[in-house]
Amino acid sequence: MPREAVSMAARRPTRQIMVGPIPVGGDAPITVQSMTTTKTADVEGTLAQIYALAAAGADIVRCTCNEAEAAEGLARIVPRSPVPIVADIHFHVEMALAALEAGVQALRLNPGNLRKPEEIRLVASEAKDRGVPIRIGVNAGSLHPELYKRFGGATPEALVESAKMEVAFFDEVDFHDVKISVKASSVPTMIEAYRLASETFDYPLHLGVTEAGPPPAGLLKGTAGIATLLAEGIGDTIRYSLTADPVEEARAGRQLLEALGLRERKSLDLIACPSCGRADIDVIAVAQAAQAALGDRNLPLQIAVMGCVVNGPGEAREADLGIAAGKHKGHLFIKGKIIRVVPEDEMVEALVAEAEKIVAEGIEARIAAADSGAEAEAAEDRRALLELQGSDANHSEDVVVKIRRTIAGGGSGAGGAH
Ligand code: SF4
Repeated sequence: MPREAVSMAARRPTRQIMVGPIPVGGDAPITVQSMTTTKTADVEGTLAQIYALAAAGADIVRCTCNEAEAAEGLARIVPRSPVPIVADIHFHVEMALAALEAGVQALRLNPGNLRKPEEIRLVASEAKDRGVPIRIGVNAGSLHPELYKRFGGATPEALVESAKMEVAFFDEVDFHDVKISVKASSVPTMIEAYRLASETFDYPLHLGVTEAGPPPAGLLKGTAGIATLLAEGIGDTIRYSLTADPVEEARAGRQLLEALGLRERKSLDLIACPSCGRADIDVIAVAQAAQAALGDRNLPLQIAVMGCVVNGPGEAREADLGIAAGKHKGHLFIKGKIIRVVPEDEMVEALVAEAEKIVAEGIEARIAAADSGAEAEAAEDRRALLELQGSDANHSEDVVVKIRRTIAGGGSGAGGAH
C-alpha cells in the first residue's frame, strides 16, 4: 500500500466475501462499484456501458433486474461481462430467483422493498446453495414504514435496525455471505449510520451517499461521506450515486481511492474480456503476454484484449486500442474501429507496435492510417464465426427458457430456481 495511506485509521476488520472473482472485505483492496443506466434487456447497450465502467475503474457493476426481460438480458450479459454483475432486485422475489438463474455474481436486496419473511428466506437459501453473496441495501428513502414510525424518521439507528432485521432472516437459513449498506442522502446521517453499522456487524460495508445529485454538488457530497468513513477505517467497497453518466461515478470512485492512497495509481490500463463460449483464443494467456510486453512502457492508454471479433470491438469500443481474435487472426481496433488484421501469432507484437504509434501520432492519425480492407475482412471473419458457432455460443437461450419457467412459477418454491 502506498506510504500516504499510513496516517489513516487502521481498517476495521470485516469478513471477506467473494463477488465472483473479486474479494470484498477483510484485507482485500477497497473496490469501486457503479450501476448501469441502460435497460438491462438491451444487451449490447448494457455491455458497452459495463465495459466503459470497467475501463473507468469499476471493479463490480450493478444492473437492475426489475422485469422478466431484464432477467433474460442478464443471462446474455453475464457470460460476456468483464466484471462481476450484481442484480438489483426491486419488489419481486421471482426477479431474485431469475437473476440467480441468469448466473449473476451477487444480489442486492432492499429490505424496504422485499418484505415478506418467507420470500427473504427463500432468496437467501437459494443464494446460499449457489455461493452467491447478497448486499443488504438499506436506503433511508425506502425504509420500512414501521421502522420509520418506531424511530421517528430515517435515523442512523433505524437504518441499522433494518439491516439487523434482514440479517436475522438470513441467520435463520444459516446464510452469512453478506455485505451491508445503510445509505442516506444526508451526509451526516449516512456517516453516523455507517459508524453504527461498523460497531454492529463484522460484514463488509458498501459505502455511498444515495441520490447525491448531479456534479459538482453530488461529487462533493459523495466524497464528504465516503472519504470521512474511509479515513476512519470504515468501508470495503464504494459507490458514488450521481445524476450523471455512470462513467463519472466509476472514475470518481477510483480517483478517490487513489487520492487516499488506497489503490495503486494507473497508467497503462489493460482490460480483457472474461472469455466465454465465443472466445477463439486463450484470452488469459494473450492478456498476460500483452501485459508482459506492455508492462515497462508506461503508455497512457486503455488497451483491450478481447476473445472474439464477433463482439470484442463493440464491447470494448471505449478502449483506445484493442485486439480481438477470430479465424486464427488478430483484429486490431482503435475506439472500436478495425484498423488492421494480423496473423494470430503476431497479435501481441502488433498490439505493442500500434500502442507506441498511437502515443507518437495520436488516435485520429492512426485511424486515418487504417488498412483499407481491414473492416471488410473482419466482417467476413465475424460472419464465418457466427456460421460456425451459431448465434448462441454461450447457451444463454437455454438459461432464458429456465428463467421464463422460474418467473411463470411465481417463485413459489426453491425448485423453480434450479
Ligand atoms: S469471447 Fe467475445 S463475446 Fe465472449 S466475452 Fe470475450 S469478447 Fe465478449
